[in-house]
Amino acid sequence: MVEMPGRIVILGAGHAGVECATALRARKFGGTVDLVGDDPHLPYQRPPLSKDYIKRPGDPLPLKPKQFFADNRITLRPGQRAAGIDRKRRQVRLESGEALPYDHLVLATGARNRRLHIPGINDGTAFELRTLADADRILGSIRDWRQVAIVGGGFVGLEAAALLTTMGIAVHVIETAPRLMQRTASPTLSSWFAEWHRENGTAVHLDTQVAAVEQEAARVVARLTDGNRLVADAAIVAAGVLPNVELAAAAGLAVGNGIVVDANLLTSDPAISAIGDCANFPSSRLPGRARLESVQNAADQARTVAARLTGETKPYDALPWFWSIQGGVRLQIAGLSKPGLSEVVRGDPDSGRFSVFLFDGERLTAVESVNAAADHMIARRLIAERRKVEPAGVGDLSLDLKSLL
Ligand SMILES: Cc1cc2nc3c(=O)[nH]c(=O)nc-3n(C[C@H](O)[C@H](O)[C@H](O)COP(=O)(O)OP(=O)(O)OC[C@H]3O[C@@H](n4cnc5c(N)ncnc54)[C@H](O)[C@@H]3O)c2cc1C
Repeated sequence: MVEMPGRIVILGAGHAGVECATALRARKFGGTVDLVGDDPHLPYQRPPLSKDYIKRPGDPLPLKPKQFFADNRITLRPGQRAAGIDRKRRQVRLESGEALPYDHLVLATGARNRRLHIPGINDGTAFELRTLADADRILGSIRDWRQVAIVGGGFVGLEAAALLTTMGIAVHVIETAPRLMQRTASPTLSSWFAEWHRENGTAVHLDTQVAAVEQEAARVVARLTDGNRLVADAAIVAAGVLPNVELAAAAGLAVGNGIVVDANLLTSDPAISAIGDCANFPSSRLPGRARLESVQNAADQARTVAARLTGETKPYDALPWFWSIQGGVRLQIAGLSKPGLSEVVRGDPDSGRFSVFLFDGERLTAVESVNAAADHMIARRLIAERRKVEPAGVGDLSLDLKSLL
């Protein structure tokens, strides 16, 4: 018989950590649950920070009401940072000096913003957008902004760009890659969004880097590698994230691009799991391994681990999906894109409502939908259920996608 843990410690109180604690209790786990997070706030949702929160500040959306943690006997420890893991003694050492014993440890330490090595960029000249404190720092200055330079043309940078333009702020987006959202989006989607942002008033600089940033009186001057010199009231760096692996690495666990786990989300120590943005896992939907940064991945991995810790072991195999809201555009992505996929477009991109179906040979592997939620929900099922889909068929609007289910 597999021995069930009595004491579970979860490090990181973000989407993954909170969902893991919640799912443990929903599955009637009867032992202790300690949820340790270094963020001082009640755990909150990150996606609104680059969407509504900056425009309509108020209370950030909590992941759970405060009372929930007490009602479910989850010992929430906000504002506490774990400093080390003693695997022999099965203890987590907090920076406060306290030691927390565990039978099973769940690492849900997430990711942090990537810092760029650009002269002048980290000298208080740049804003970031990952935590509530980052968003509040932007809110503290935004009233004086007329022009902003955003470094990074990924989801967070573009969501922020769309938001700031609706507030009458002139935005420049500077992206190193030749296209926007290159890591996750198809070429068709990237160029549609580049055009949309340009029409929306944002200056999009592709294939361009910031060579240096200087402060001139109250303004920021960004020198670009294409020779341009941008003068702005602020710079926001949204250049991707790095997984928080240091605790795991110091404890001797395998780390690569993330904390390395097996198909059951177990690390190289059977008493320690890793989930969410920090976990690097094998994916049956990709050749090799993946580390994903999405709410779906954090929540589904959390539930997979909670199930295993309460006696139901199933390998993690959820279909990845993701959403982004840029101005009035709702983007939904299901599946994982990679270079070299063939694209079939369903609908007319000029109408602002379409989907890109991405095929790996004959196999449908990903679908990106712009303002096309109904198509998207069906497409998601087609990929999840690994249905056979004719590439030529899905581009034809007279085909009812439901008929393929
Ligand atoms: C602005 C923004 C917008 C986003 N929008 C979307 C979206 O629209 N759709 C979507 O699917 N995803 C979106 N994401 C991504 C999504 O928020 C993340 O994938 C998700 O938050 C990952 O959850 P997590 O719990 O793995 O990590 P995190 O949310 O990063 O939580 C980990 C927590 O652990 C803490 N921690 C780290 N080390 C320690 C330690 N030693 N001790 C104690 N605590 C520690 C961290 O400080 C952090 O609070 C967005 C992200 C951002 C920043």
